[in-house]
Amino acid sequence: MSHAAPVPEDLNPHHIARLQFDRAVPYVDDIEGWEGIAEWLFEPERVVKLTLPVVMDDGRVRAFHGYRVLHNTARGPGKGGIRFYPAVDEDEVKALATWMTWKCAVVGVPFGGAKGGVQCDPTRMSVGEKRRVTRRFIASLGDDIGPHTDIPAPDMYTNAETMAWIYDTYQMMHPHTANLGVVTGKPLDLGGIPGRSTATAQGLAYVLERLLALGEVPTLGSIAGTRVAVQGFGNAGRHAAFILRGLGATVVAVGDVKGGAANADGLNLEEVEAHQKATGSVVKAPGTRVLGPRGPLEVECDILVPAALENQITLENADRVKAAVVIEAANGPTTPAADRILADKGIVVVPDILANAGGVVVSYFEWVQNLDNEEWEEHTVQKRLRAKMQRATEGVVMTYHRLRDRYDEYRQRWQQAAPGAPDPAFPDLRIAATANAVGRCWTALDQRGVWP
Ligand code: NAD
Repeated sequence: MSHAAPVPEDLNPHHIARLQFDRAVPYVDDIEGWEGIAEWLFEPERVVKLTLPVVMDDGRVRAFHGYRVLHNTARGPGKGGIRFYPAVDEDEVKALATWMTWKCAVVGVPFGGAKGGVQCDPTRMSVGEKRRVTRRFIASLGDDIGPHTDIPAPDMYTNAETMAWIYDTYQMMHPHTANLGVVTGKPLDLGGIPGRSTATAQGLAYVLERLLALGEVPTLGSIAGTRVAVQGFGNAGRHAAFILRGLGATVVAVGDVKGGAANADGLNLEEVEAHQKATGSVVKAPGTRVLGPRGPLEVECDILVPAALENQITLENADRVKAAVVIEAANGPTTPAADRILADKGIVVVPDILANAGGVVVSYFEWVQNLDNEEWEEHTVQKRLRAKMQRATEGVVMTYHRLRDRYDEYRQRWQQAAPGAPDPAFPDLRIAATANAVGRCWTALDQRGVWP
């Protein structure tokens, strides 16, 4: 019997993004001379680190750390949210920016990837403190963001109000020019687009509908009649719960940072939401069983929607996931080790870069609307969102089957391209989606050529 301590799982999000990239590279076409191109494509183009002095309500000055990473602009200007969260650091923002590059390529919007964040605890800050952090962050970024260079959006603990402050700050610094396109996810009266706040969850539902219709989850024919669990009851998770219930599912568990609420017969979502508004959490909503923050991941259900943050389904708990399909509303919720465990259990994982891309798709519509000085109608947004998400899903599924069917060919090709390297990982939907995305960025770089 071995007494060696188990090798701990590496939960650094940037290392995880690299591992996912490395798993996809053997499946990218035209991989001659791949090493230099891969390095160029994976590493961020620019990393901005800022120290932000902010006067707090008690009159004291606090210094916050802010980051903006522009990952890759091969296919267009940078695009990606800004998050306010205590765990924000450079490697997390680099990973999130990388996933944005792949996401924009998977769904076919002409953006590259970017992301930003400020290390802070917004749950302990007043509205005024959050506004001052936002303004100082955007002012310090200066021309590192712009309507044609890098366009922020909401993410964890930022919302339409934050986007209005971002727009206002940028506009004050660039008067006499039209700058609505500098940020998306704005309020409707300030150049926002109908359907942006529900876009991530709605897009997820379109992906799931298409995937089930294609028969990719053997035990599930449609959303109607399924049991759903959601971790994270914020923008992405709360809307996902309501939208999936609207499609005939029963939501059996939801959760937030403080814990979860479960009822095997189905939650009354309106009551849970009212309880969350009144108490700040879904925990102890009437008629529910109390769960821990990771509890919703382990309940009996058919569809599991992680919608909180990275590294929630890991080596430690993947074996306890009971769903037939995990569809990632959050970015990076499933670790590479957990991916393998879920695959071995026959659980289908729909990767973040496809599943939650509805947000960036509607952000793209908002940006187009702003540049055109137009106002789109909600039915136009929904029609185009559905078409984009369905097409992207079909593309990923087609690639997935091609990679699996031709695994031996890819393996032999990889042995020639990278002698001595291990065999490519057997394809799953994440590898297929990443290979599609990386291939598109690779092609764009190739067509542009290496400057000078
Ligand atoms: P949000 O701030 O609106 O909600 C976050 C939710 O997660 C809250 O309910 C919070 O209580 C919960 N949470 C935070 N820390 C937790 C923890 N340690 N354990 C359990 N729950 C926790 O944020 P959001 O915009 O809904 O984003 C959620 C996820 O979805 C993030 O990974 C984000 O990157 C991703 N995402 C969001 C969008 C979007 O348009 N908002 C688009 C694509 C992806």
